[in-house]
Order: sequence, then structure tokens, then C-alpha cells
Amino acid sequence: MRTLIWFNSAETEAWVCSECGWVFRPLGPPVGRTLEEMKENFEGQREKEFAAHDCAKHRKTKSQRR
Ligand SMILES: [Zn+2]
Repeated sequence: MRTLIWFNSAETEAWVCSECGWVFRPLGPPVGRTLEEMKENFEGQREKEFAAHDCAKHRKTKSQRR
């Protein structure tokens, strides 16, 4: 089962898929009137994008080996 993992290195930090290496890229700065709201919007967007992406497709375009 694929999961969303927090990838952190010297060059980059991002949410990635554990299965195919798909990277979540926010469409813009977080929106909301409060920090809590921004966080919720960000997480909502992240979950939606993650659920929508296709692991098989990403594996094909990215010949990544572990
Ligand atoms: Zn994936």
C-alpha cells in the first residue's frame, strides 16, 4: 500500500509517494486566514493530489531504482 512520506535532504524537502517517487508540488502558497486554516487547506490539497496520481504512470516515466 502506497503512503505519503516526507522526504528531506540537503537539496530538497517534499512529500513523495513511497511507491513511485511522485512528488507533491503545491499549486501556490497556502490559503487561509489562520495558520490552522492554511494547514488544513494544504493537507487537503496534498491528500487529493496524492489520491489522484497514478503510480504506474510515474514509474514508467521515472526509471527509479531502489
Ligand atoms: Zn505513487
